[in-house]
Amino acid sequence: MDTTTLNADPAELQKFGDLAHRWWDPQSEFKPLHDINPLRLDWIDAALGLNGKRVIDIGCGGGILSEGMASRGATVTGIDLSEKPLGVAKLHLYESGLTVDYRKISAEAMATAAPESFDAVTCMEMLEHVPDPASVVRACARLVKPGGHVFFSTLNRNLKSYVFAVVGAEYVLKLLPRGTHEYARFIKPSELARFAREAGLETEALIGMSYNPLTQRYWLGKDTDVNYLVRCSKPL
Ligand code: SAH
Repeated sequence: MDTTTLNADPAELQKFGDLAHRWWDPQSEFKPLHDINPLRLDWIDAALGLNGKRVIDIGCGGGILSEGMASRGATVTGIDLSEKPLGVAKLHLYESGLTVDYRKISAEAMATAAPESFDAVTCMEMLEHVPDPASVVRACARLVKPGGHVFFSTLNRNLKSYVFAVVGAEYVLKLLPRGTHEYARFIKPSELARFAREAGLETEALIGMSYNPLTQRYWLGKDTDVNYLVRCSKPL
């Protein structure tokens, strides 16, 4: 695959590929994704009612969110451009007994191939790894049916998010490997809302995700300074 023409950063894809074999180890570099998964699943499920819905998970990686949604009765397609995480995701289906349709394809190509095919699109912890996040947002908007929902999560860009998400998580607490996140790629909620609006989506909800290193607990709330989730809808 020629990644030079894709809206993808080969170094980012490689980073996730190198760690992929540890994706389902809840004590690994992917511990944060395991820990936040029930929170985001509940948030998506409350708005959508996952059971019976057709959902596409963009940048699905090893499939933590994809499987979660499938376990709640959704018919899930998971796409990513990194080979190894997708391989791990496919293998893990043997362990979980769940069904997810995993494919190596870009969001943009999928949107051309299957426009307006999904009741919902999820794109979590992925936009901050992509050269042109607005293009991914546009692809998400094309993939969802009119009346459907698109869910994003990413990292805000300000001094506090730099201190918590880069210095704190990578250097002090060592929750994530150094170099996991590039500050310049963080996205302010106002920027994401603009990308969504320009793609024809309406932003309906914004909620923050916080972490207490002492209790090692995550929760959803008003503080959107570091990590946040957004729900958009596509007008009928
Ligand atoms: N969404 C998953 C995984 C997040 S890790 C979750 O929240 O559990 C980020 C994922 O984005 C990795 O699997 C990485 O391979 C993928 N990714 C990075 N750039 C991408 C791109 N341009 N297109 C598709 N996937 C990409």
